Amino acid sequence: MTKRIFRTIFGVALVVLLAVFALVLSVMYNYSTQEQRREMRNHAAYISAGIEESGMPYLDAIYKPTNRITWIAKDGTVLFDSQADYKTMENHGDREEFILASQTGEGFSQRFSNTLSEMTMNYARILKDGSVIRVSTKTTSPLSLAFSMAIPLLLILISAVLFSFVLARKTAKRITKPINEINLEQPQQGDVYDELLPFLKRIELQNKQIQEQMKNLKRQKQEFDSITANMQEGLIVLDGEGDVLSYNQGVLQLLNISAPKELESVFKINRSEAFRESVETALGGTHWEVTLQIADRKCQMFANPVIQDGDVAGVILMIFDVTEREEREGMRREFTANVSHELKTPLTSISGFAEIMKNGMVRPADVPKFAGNIYDEAQRLIQLVQDIIKLSRLDEKQSTLEKTKLDFAYIVKDVVGRLEPIAQKKGIAMQVETENAEFFGVSQVINEMVYNLCDNAIKYNRENGKVEVSLKTVADEILLTVTDTGIGIAPANQGRVFERFYRVNESRSKETEGSGLGLSIVKHGALLHGAKVELKSALGVGTTIRVHFPLAQENEE
Ligand code: ADP
Repeated sequence: MTKRIFRTIFGVALVVLLAVFALVLSVMYNYSTQEQRREMRNHAAYISAGIEESGMPYLDAIYKPTNRITWIAKDGTVLFDSQADYKTMENHGDREEFILASQTGEGFSQRFSNTLSEMTMNYARILKDGSVIRVSTKTTSPLSLAFSMAIPLLLILISAVLFSFVLARKTAKRITKPINEINLEQPQQGDVYDELLPFLKRIELQNKQIQEQMKNLKRQKQEFDSITANMQEGLIVLDGEGDVLSYNQGVLQLLNISAPKELESVFKINRSEAFRESVETALGGTHWEVTLQIADRKCQMFANPVIQDGDVAGVILMIFDVTEREEREGMRREFTANVSHELKTPLTSISGFAEIMKNGMVRPADVPKFAGNIYDEAQRLIQLVQDIIKLSRLDEKQSTLEKTKLDFAYIVKDVVGRLEPIAQKKGIAMQVETENAEFFGVSQVINEMVYNLCDNAIKYNRENGKVEVSLKTVADEILLTVTDTGIGIAPANQGRVFERFYRVNESRSKETEGSGLGLSIVKHGALLHGAKVELKSALGVGTTIRVHFPLAQENEE
């Protein structure tokens, strides 16, 4: 702004200066020319009078006149010249001033000499005898007059530059002060130029629009943040360069990282090859999916390119924890394999015995024995299928099983009563001790749990051993304890006996054949009732299994 104002002021000053200069020059030049002419005319007048009075002797008597004096005869012959030898001078009949004087009585002429800086002015006047007297003088041309004024002009110009500059700065400051002091939040308040009002009105309007838009954006961001913050899944938004624009808390937990810095490269937060490959593929415009191993967890990541006007403007990474899902799938696969295997064993036996009988290779006396084997295997098969059904029912949990108020003590006594004959066969003494305990649970499942625990205590007992079953209410729980004096479980197996189909090798004798699902059913039944199972066992001494049923369960329902 200062520059512009300076240019304007200086331009105006320069134009004014030059105009004044030209005016002064022309006035001065005209004035001096007029003066000179007057002076020459006077000079010529009294010389004419002198010649007419005294002739040549008068001219000879003039000592060094200020102006050059030439006397020219009527025919143009030079009769006298005060500065040159008139005898050698050419005829002056063709000179402009001579012709004018001869015709009109007087005449002026001016001629430039060799250099433009000098000019000769001539004034000729006719005498009574027809001869002409000429007075010449050298005078300065307008150009040399201008040159003579160059230095003062230059000084004035320099002062004009300085003056213009100082003035421009001051003016600019004065003009910009109210503009600088405009409060852009409240543009129309304060002392403002009228010329700026439309502009300021527009700013105020735009301010309002921006505030409105900012409010909307903030609200949308808050919505987005609260949605993404409460998401367990991880979400990362990248720009087209692969730098992190935003992320949610889920990412930090899933990828086990600390908060990335703003615009940090995403490759810094996970340096695995699989991660790099998927991000790079998405940055190339193609959707990609990968499963990452983060410590002991598995995360599935989807990398989606964000395409805008045909270009990849960014990438969205969605990360899910699939550890449980993968584990469940693994368990399901294992369960299916185990079921097939467990079903195949008795079926193979049944088929084998039946084939021998079909081929008539069995003596009639042995038929009952073979038929008994087939019966036993079929029973085992039925037992297995029943256990699988129970387990899958437990898997479906609450959806199909309804909890009711039940008499826990009655169930325990009933189960023990059913198993007593089997125990007696092995000479095993069964002791049962119960307290009246009302419980809120699934009767059938509690029944199966007690049955499996007591059945195992008998199955894996020694001849003439002992089984103690007790049911007590302790503080806020019902405690079911089944203790036996059996073969016990080695510490290494204690953690695994609750797995499906897991059977300790040593106990796989013919008499103690089971499905390997009994304790699994106990575990799932306990889960269904929020109960904890505790196992204590010593090889060759016996096993105690305690199930702690919380009474608070009832209130939850
Ligand atoms: P099973 O149908 O084989 O009894 P379970 O799931 O009930 O299957 O038991 C798993 C394994 O745990 C059994 O094969 C057995 O080796 C062991 N086990 C269970 N209960 C006892 C116990 N009271 N004493 C010793 N070992 C036991």
